[in-house]
Amino acid sequence: MSKNDNETFNDPLDSTDELVSKAVPPGVDRRTFLMRSAVIGATAVITGRVISAQEQVQRATAAAPALDPKLNVVQKGKGPVMTLLDEFYKVGPGPSSSHTIGPMRITYDFYQRATKLPADKLAKATALKVHLFGSLSATGKGHGTERAALAGLVGKEPATVDPLFLDSLRDKPDQVFPVKLGDKSIDVSLKDIVYDATKGDFKHPNTMTAKLMAGNEVVLEQEYYSVGGGFIEWKGYTPPKKNPPKYPYATMKELRAHADNNKLTIAQVILANEMSISGKSEAEVFAFVDKITNAMIATVKSGLKAPEDDVLPGPIKLHSKAATVYRRAMDEPYQADRGIGALSAYALAASEENGRGHLVITAPTGGSAGVMPALVYGLGEGGRKLPAEKIRMGMLAAAAIGFLCKHHATLSAAEGGCQAEIGVASAMAAALTASTHDASSRVVENAAESALEHHLGMTCDPVAGYVQVPCIERCAFGAVKAWTAYAIASNEIETRHKVNFDECVQALAQTAKDMNSKYKETSEAGLAVSVVLC
Ligand code: SF4
Repeated sequence: MSKNDNETFNDPLDSTDELVSKAVPPGVDRRTFLMRSAVIGATAVITGRVISAQEQVQRATAAAPALDPKLNVVQKGKGPVMTLLDEFYKVGPGPSSSHTIGPMRITYDFYQRATKLPADKLAKATALKVHLFGSLSATGKGHGTERAALAGLVGKEPATVDPLFLDSLRDKPDQVFPVKLGDKSIDVSLKDIVYDATKGDFKHPNTMTAKLMAGNEVVLEQEYYSVGGGFIEWKGYTPPKKNPPKYPYATMKELRAHADNNKLTIAQVILANEMSISGKSEAEVFAFVDKITNAMIATVKSGLKAPEDDVLPGPIKLHSKAATVYRRAMDEPYQADRGIGALSAYALAASEENGRGHLVITAPTGGSAGVMPALVYGLGEGGRKLPAEKIRMGMLAAAAIGFLCKHHATLSAAEGGCQAEIGVASAMAAALTASTHDASSRVVENAAESALEHHLGMTCDPVAGYVQVPCIERCAFGAVKAWTAYAIASNEIETRHKVNFDECVQALAQTAKDMNSKYKETSEAGLAVSVVLC
């Protein structure tokens, strides 16, 4: 088939026919250790100084405080899946859910609290101050934590902040912003975000305080914790009360039984549970899902628009490739090549946005933030042009996969390597794809299982500790594997599929447990060691 055939070039995903042809020491908080190891590794690259593995361990453990057992994050969930969509899909600036999305959510929360103070208190306020402690102070500069924190403090919502605003904070760090609190206007700048003590008796390694001051007097103060995955807590935090789910399930077997016995799809069961647990109406749930899908589409479009000679921030000096791959893929004579090329380019585009510190969606994490957007865009306006309603329900089916992996295994590379991030993202995307094509619940399960199965054992070893190599291309592979998983699941005899999803998640958890910790986001092995930067 040649470029000159009558075939349209507008829908690169139009046909599937051709597509089918270092150990963490005991007693040390893992996340803190891993973040520090990564930054120490990056520092070594920048300075050219060799830092021994032993010294890296010593430096990474030097100031790691123990987790307070009262924090909700350390309490393990039992019983049926209770995770809500807005706890799972979060929008915020990359590259790190704990060091950028969490801090921005924290300062935005404080900004909102401050706006609700009585007028007489606001009238005497003179300054806003944020202090970063522990790991946020030790490694925040490499992640742009101060920019994310300032953006929230000036009232920018993590989910809707303009990426250009975040870029401008990096390019013009001396900018001053008026923050309107009632009738009062208070000037803030990056100088008001203070990198404070790295060592101390903190409740959590990622501790922050936010203060509204009137001279030396504290008008409002709150201590916060960025507890991972963009989740935040604060001193005195109690988890929100939840109602029982309409269809309680703890496994895919139970979830599918609800779907099949009630003649529902998996997505419809998730919708019913979301409404009963949260008390939200169907319209409210859909409004949230639409916000997330629109944000995913925006990350792909924004990434594709980046100049072809763009270089991502950081010591790797990695050239952006999404736009080039897309442009060249569109010149391919074969439909299948255009489809795979376009899908890969969409994933590269969203993942490169994460590398730039622009907005990403945790689905399930920042590192894997290219996978789901690639399918959402490719199934919608970037290719197949399926109706928004189908993609909306697909997002619910995808969430079910993420919920189950979170419930029984992990979504964190620090605990399970890349199989827990890209692997889960690919399984979610496979379920999304199957759901949008009205597949049976069994095919949705089979597609997700297949995608996850073929990521089992995948390690995490980002070069120089930056979420770029192998992460960006890995998102493209996760997206294509999701499509392949759907292609197989929808064409095989569904009842002959041998491995069920619950068995695969068990294997994910066991592999995570057994994986050598050097391959869990430490930059101490694999590509992080074999790739030499100059
Ligand atoms: S290699 Fe590690 S940091 Fe990169 S995407 Fe995979 S899990 Fe995330």
